[in-house]
Amino acid sequence: MDTVRIADNRTRGRRKCYFCQNPAIKITYKDPLRLKRYLTPRGKIVSRFKTRVCSRHQKLLTTAIKKARILAILPFVNREL
Ligand SMILES: [Zn+2]
Repeated sequence: MDTVRIADNRTRGRRKCYFCQNPAIKITYKDPLRLKRYLTPRGKIVSRFKTRVCSRHQKLLTTAIKKARILAILPFVNREL
């Protein structure tokens, strides 16, 4: 447990991108449950700085989220909050 935490602290500054670590996961607009993790409750796309996604995958995510919005899979703005 302790060793895991130490390793975590060391790599906190430049953690690897989730999608680079899991190449099997495809970023697609047909997967709203995954895309939702990268939206605020209000519906905005969360910045790369917070999610620690690399620039290549952030761009793919953004494109997928925007496609999903046009197809009404994801909301542009969540006004229920
Ligand atoms: Zn990546």
